[in-house]
Amino acid sequence: MPSAGYAPLDINGIRSYLNALPVARDRLGQEASAWRIREVGDGNLNLVFIVEGKGAVVVKQALPYVRLVGESWPLPLKRSFFESNALFIQERYAPGLTPQIYHFDDRMALIVMEYLSPHIILRKGLMQRKIYPKAATTIAQFMALTLYNTSMLASSAEAHKARIELFASNTALCKITEDLVFTDPYREAALNRWTSPQLDGIKAEFERDNPLKLAAQEKKWQFVTEAQALIHGDLHTGSVMVTDSDTRVIDPEFAFVGPIAFDVGAIIANYLLSFFSHRGQSQDGGPDSYCDWLLGQTEMLWTVFEAQFLKLWEQQPSGEVFAQGLFETPESTAALAAHRHVFMQKLFRDALGFAGCKMIRRILGLAHVQDMESIKDPDVRARAETMALIFARQLLLQAHGFSGIADVTAAAQEHASPAKV
Ligand code: ADP
Ligand code: MG
Repeated sequence: MPSAGYAPLDINGIRSYLNALPVARDRLGQEASAWRIREVGDGNLNLVFIVEGKGAVVVKQALPYVRLVGESWPLPLKRSFFESNALFIQERYAPGLTPQIYHFDDRMALIVMEYLSPHIILRKGLMQRKIYPKAATTIAQFMALTLYNTSMLASSAEAHKARIELFASNTALCKITEDLVFTDPYREAALNRWTSPQLDGIKAEFERDNPLKLAAQEKKWQFVTEAQALIHGDLHTGSVMVTDSDTRVIDPEFAFVGPIAFDVGAIIANYLLSFFSHRGQSQDGGPDSYCDWLLGQTEMLWTVFEAQFLKLWEQQPSGEVFAQGLFETPESTAALAAHRHVFMQKLFRDALGFAGCKMIRRILGLAHVQDMESIKDPDVRARAETMALIFARQLLLQAHGFSGIADVTAAAQEHASPAKV
């Protein structure tokens, strides 16, 4: 139920709302009647307006239902509260890597924020084979900074529990992930979609594949129970905006205190989906330097994340787990240093499992990715999707078989080779 005083705004509503808001009026300049306002939301859930005067702002307002599906699927407006809180916290630990917030209105479920321009959605850039030399590195840094600093490796138990409490009632958005990522793709569900009839066989196989279903449920168990850090919760290439030199992470409305590996796996999955979408479209399966670049960036996502996370842990061990006082002799310092690598290795394998789930759900579940959807010829699309599905299954079932990220990208290359298709 929308709260009292809530109303979804149209273009005129946005104009008068912002005209009554000094922080927006100052930024926009000019007379309100001269502001150019357009609704640009291409996401699945909310309204997004770009407002331009002398300056510019973006207004994002939640709707009381899922935009992609309609009023038959209600969704709490409080997601706007979670998004704004996540943005504030992310800005604190990863300054300059998110849009700046100018104003949050709880009653209207509305955020006024920085207009990122001339940024475009990273996914769209990757679809056009554009090179963003810094994007993967910056996303990896964003993850290390936000995930390390909102975990108990950096903070007290008390602070951590306050964080859990702040986001604990983001249950409706978590449930979307729980159902759509971990469960629905492996069963008959009304909203599932896949390229049919080409993928009918593999869809039916996945429904019968007990080891795969068990592995996906293990990941769901982790997703719901591992309250490790404040995660973004929806960190795909559609949640990143880029220029050649700037990278920002947007849209953390799925944020809650969950497993660190979920964010890492999500972004790795989306770079790999881009890779398979391009490989599936190349006629002869011959060398493709853009695909090689994508795999190189996939490696960077992990290697930079791991290095930065370890660096933070070594330099700022301010948390109440692995407490400093326990590791003061040279032997115990060495033992802790060795253990950090064991910890990261587990995180790596967990990330691969989550990546597998995220890839599968984008091909057999409700919400697909443009990388694949834009392939017009269904046979070509099915070829790309099949390669991605078989590889994703391997990520989920054989995460322990990969000793490092280079193994993963080599296996992706292998799955995309002409002999396999
Ligand atoms: P949803 O939660 O509905 O998925 P998003 O936050 O992903 O909405 O925003 C939808 C679209 O609006 C994005 O894909 C992007 O094109 C645009 N957008 C969102 N925030 C900004 C911003 N701060 N600056 C510029 N464009 C933005
Ligand atoms: Mg969103």
